[in-house]
Amino acid sequence: MSGNDADGKATRLAAAGRRKEWTQGVVNPPVWRASTILYDSVAELRSRPQDTHEKLYYGRRGTPTQWALASALTELEPGAAGTLLYPSGLAAVTTALLAMLSPGDQVLMVDSAYEPTRAFCDKILKKHGIETRYYDPLIGGDIAGLIGDTTAAIFLESPGSLTFEVQDVPAIVAAAKARGVVTMIDNTWATPLFFPAIAHGVDLSILACTKYVVGHSDAMLGAVTAAPGVWEKLRTMTHLLGQCAGPDDAWLGLRGLRTMGVRLAQHQANALKVAGWLADRPEVARVLYPALPGDPGHALWRRDFSGASGLFSIVLDGGNDAGRVAMLDGLRLFGMGFSWGGFESLAIPVDPQRIRSATRWQAEGPAIRLHIGLEDPDDLIADLEAGLARFAALR
Ligand SMILES: *Cc1c(COP(=O)(O)O)cnc(C)c1O
Repeated sequence: MSGNDADGKATRLAAAGRRKEWTQGVVNPPVWRASTILYDSVAELRSRPQDTHEKLYYGRRGTPTQWALASALTELEPGAAGTLLYPSGLAAVTTALLAMLSPGDQVLMVDSAYEPTRAFCDKILKKHGIETRYYDPLIGGDIAGLIGDTTAAIFLESPGSLTFEVQDVPAIVAAAKARGVVTMIDNTWATPLFFPAIAHGVDLSILACTKYVVGHSDAMLGAVTAAPGVWEKLRTMTHLLGQCAGPDDAWLGLRGLRTMGVRLAQHQANALKVAGWLADRPEVARVLYPALPGDPGHALWRRDFSGASGLFSIVLDGGNDAGRVAMLDGLRLFGMGFSWGGFESLAIPVDPQRIRSATRWQAEGPAIRLHIGLEDPDDLIADLEAGLARFAALR
């Protein structure tokens, strides 16, 4: 049992990674918990190469549980050579960066990147002699003008964290390839289902599986899927750093992955309904959701993506933080907390101006990021309507 590139995405989601040698005939690969792997003889122990892949060697190199998830994710990215798992999405981001960069190199980093990604560049890469230059997410093909002799990698995240700018990925990839520069994308929002990044020419596709792959807000997990040209480099760095994900978390990831397609379709339908309603509200200045026809990134999103997930932001019209707090504190169905991608709705205050350096964030009022879950959208709308009334009362 295994998917193939000609199958539809839903078929691949159901079949991917289910190799008989790993499942032993049951439907889902069991949880293989292991540190030590026992060998029958010195000769067998000596014959097992240290860089072995998908063979039992030592717990850190994984077991069939982790391989089944990694291989399923590879099958969702046509053209990819392989996938490695990490204990969090952030560990996936930092390992991908470390694998591609050396002292003296420069990385071009999108200004709308996830905040901890920026922090790693500013605090760790800098200390190791790697320069980060932030660029406007809307730069498109003009990124060619920023590529210098030391530029080794371009990091993308599309749509961007908090503000959801859509990047012109094909134009940036073309400029990078012309100069032999590696590209990597944080693909957590779209997942390979809505944006197969490797097929779009990106070298490394990074996922915080904590979000839609796990899908139930109960495990931390990351993954990097690599194109053939960078796969060995990624694998070597991952092994040298001792990065690995536990089998129980990988198993939760596999369980979540099987329903990711139907969940994402429903997140999208619910989010479109809620976002469309918000866009018509007088208390809301802007809805930052590329799936909405009025969004500045809508044309690029339509061209490159096959769907939208349930995460977007709104900018309130006027008002202040006290009004935003009153709105958020009184919500009944939206939980307040970091992360997203689970079955449940979430809302948090966001302040993008704090974390931009190449561009300026200007807004009509305070902003809120919403994750639209699988609840009935009419109930979510009623909750938000009452929240907007609390906001308006203080405006
Ligand atoms: C959450 C998130 C991450 C980090 O994932 P963790 O599993 O929380 O470490 C990386 N990128 C984006 C865009 C995220 O939203």
